Amino acid sequence: MHQHCSSNHQQCFISSTTQDSTPGPGPGPYRRYDRLPPIQAQFSIESDSDMTESSGLIQEYDVFDPSKPRPHIIFIIGGPGSGKGTQTSKIAAHYDFECVSVGEILRNQLLQHAPSDRKWELIAQIIANGELAPQETTIEELKHQFIKKQDAKGFIVDGFPREISQTFTFEEQIGSPDLVILLACSNQQLRQRLEKRALQQGRPDDNTHAIEKRLDTFKQNITLIAKYYQERGLITRVDADREEDDIFTDIKTIVQERLFPKEEEP
Ligand code: UDP
Ligand code: MG
Repeated sequence: MHQHCSSNHQQCFISSTTQDSTPGPGPGPYRRYDRLPPIQAQFSIESDSDMTESSGLIQEYDVFDPSKPRPHIIFIIGGPGSGKGTQTSKIAAHYDFECVSVGEILRNQLLQHAPSDRKWELIAQIIANGELAPQETTIEELKHQFIKKQDAKGFIVDGFPREISQTFTFEEQIGSPDLVILLACSNQQLRQRLEKRALQQGRPDDNTHAIEKRLDTFKQNITLIAKYYQERGLITRVDADREEDDIFTDIKTIVQERLFPKEEEP
């Protein structure tokens, strides 16, 4: 089911700076990789071996082949119903990038595992309640997608990060996005779109209680996330209260400027 990292060009490292060098169950960061296949261990002392800031990060996992240019990564964030999924598919089609929808991946995993697996049963409850799945799970799922699609030119990640700690963990374990697009929408517009979608799609988290909770979760977390990416000059805000095609026109201009400044339109 999950892509194993045994292909030739896939490099997986475990780098250890301490005596805790045996991957396996138990507390600590190793648990994060419980479900990954056995990986070739390679122990090394990191260049930052003064054990200061990164001493907690005992393991690193190279998601992308370090000998190749890293694929572009764009995050699309915004409130529930802001049009992330729609715009993500459009960008992916236009630039021949891969779509990665975190919400969809989690929903698919739920369908597959929730009845028989306690962990996914709990995550199903969390999501149906409009709250966030544990970030270990979410980031692991994201990594699997990246590994599975190694040769992609770029990835558009829909609906991630949802909280600041996910932002940091992604950066530590995978890297920095090249661009973050924030789809800014009024609350009224978000509610209207979600209610419409509830009638059309019957998603388990499009119920009144979960909608309110998701709006709350978004409001609580977006300020810090936006501030963080603002300080790094990575985020652009797009007015998403408009028609789909107008929003997409703006997004194309932004992606072109940021990712392909000297190239012609594809
Ligand atoms: N979710 C999560 N972590 C993420 C992204 C999504 O836990 O990083 C969960 C969360 O419960 C969210 C749900 O998945 O409400 C649906 O996410 P999606 O992006 O599909 O929601 P949308 O914004 O499209 O309504
Ligand atoms: Mg969506």
